[in-house]
Amino acid sequence: MQRLDCHVKEYAWGKKGEESEVATLFAAGHPEFFVERTNPYAELWMGTHPDGPARIASTKQLLSSFIAKSYSSQMLFNNNLRKDIHLPFIMKVMSIAKTLSLQVHPTKEQAERLHESDPVHYPDRHHKPELAYALTQFELLCGFRPAREIVANLRAFPALKYLMGVQNSEKLIEIIESGADPRSNKCKSRLAACFAYQLAQPKDRVEDFVDELLASISRGARGCLTESTVSVIKKMSVDFPGDVGIFAPLYLNHMVLQPGQCCYYASQELHAYLSGECVECVGCSNNTIRAALTPKFIDHDALIEALNYQMTEPEDYLVPAQRLPTHPIVDEYAPDCKDFQLHRIRIETCTQTPAPLPQLECASIMVVVKGTAIMDEMQPGASGEALGKNERRMVRRGDIIYIAADRRLAFVHCSEDLEAYRTFSYEIGPDHEIAAPDSILLSSPSQKISPVPSKAILTTIEKKLDRNDSGIVFEVESEIDGFC
Ligand SMILES: [Zn+2]
Repeated sequence: MQRLDCHVKEYAWGKKGEESEVATLFAAGHPEFFVERTNPYAELWMGTHPDGPARIASTKQLLSSFIAKSYSSQMLFNNNLRKDIHLPFIMKVMSIAKTLSLQVHPTKEQAERLHESDPVHYPDRHHKPELAYALTQFELLCGFRPAREIVANLRAFPALKYLMGVQNSEKLIEIIESGADPRSNKCKSRLAACFAYQLAQPKDRVEDFVDELLASISRGARGCLTESTVSVIKKMSVDFPGDVGIFAPLYLNHMVLQPGQCCYYASQELHAYLSGECVECVGCSNNTIRAALTPKFIDHDALIEALNYQMTEPEDYLVPAQRLPTHPIVDEYAPDCKDFQLHRIRIETCTQTPAPLPQLECASIMVVVKGTAIMDEMQPGASGEALGKNERRMVRRGDIIYIAADRRLAFVHCSEDLEAYRTFSYEIGPDHEIAAPDSILLSSPSQKISPVPSKAILTTIEKKLDRNDSGIVFEVESEIDGFC
């Protein structure tokens, strides 16, 4: 295991000073870091992405170079090696005071096309699935509301109908009320027409519609909105006056996650984080198509094309926790996604009984958010069998650790309330061309006890390197999601 130095991002929407979990967690693990009372601390990044790459704390070597070198030492038969090998994910902790932009991420195919035509705004070829685990009450908008709710809001708020076009809106209401399947292309194309129309409205008209919406709300109109959604709309109208995104809570699901709840969405889903603190896992990509609530580049054409227009119950985005039967201190959050999985590790009582972590056949990053512990690592031998020689180290809140594949780790002595998060993926690199063999992907991590170091993975890497040793994964570097 290697302790990492990581990056903190001071985007304007972050919580300020010591109110930000990002700031205090980062300071706990980086003693030279000083928390400024008035600075916003939005995101702590734990990954190899060039916009905020982790380094090995003891040597200051880039983690991506360390990974490339550790693979090369196992591949003695091939000197044709990359300088960097990237992890397919970034794990983050986020502290959100103010809504992030309304946005969508492209599919891999869309990302390739967008990158070809506009490499400045779409800096890589990768998709960017996202998972958010609530550390505190965490609110977001995610996916179009169920059809009946969109109809209720179109009826209750004339301003929404005008914004989306009266004819478009009536056609949408008509087809939904005729009993058509909301998943049919007919329904989706009518929703798409409504959505596209609002984006084409001139700014002064949008401002008038926002005034009208706020007036309806103050007269008591609610449609299917809860009072907490009404509060979100009012806050947005203060933070982003006259912005078309203020209407988004009328047609998107407003989700309020309680600590421990987790949601996931892949490409093509319109979303915006609103408030709270979370552990986020994202694909290692910079491709974001923004719709509203941002001074950054907005790309209406790409946006209209990228969305899936699925009207969905909010529960469909939740990812259940699954307790690992072999490791009861671990809850696994495994969305339908190869880019990442998340383990929450919790030990509630002070104990001296060793508590092993699952041995994963892939690299992972772990962050300790509560407590202290002594960790043992059993050193593997050449055949992958443990030699029985332990490396022992103290870990505490704020520590971020890189764990190479196949490592056997255990907490041997813990303080009360130890809590840590560990993100991993069986992919190597964000491009999905190098992956673990199917047999690895199909089995559950909890059952993976094979001591064989991933030879199949190494062979796949070697084949890939023979094809292309340029190692260029990120051609343009730019800031993700933040607006300064
Ligand atoms: Zn996003």
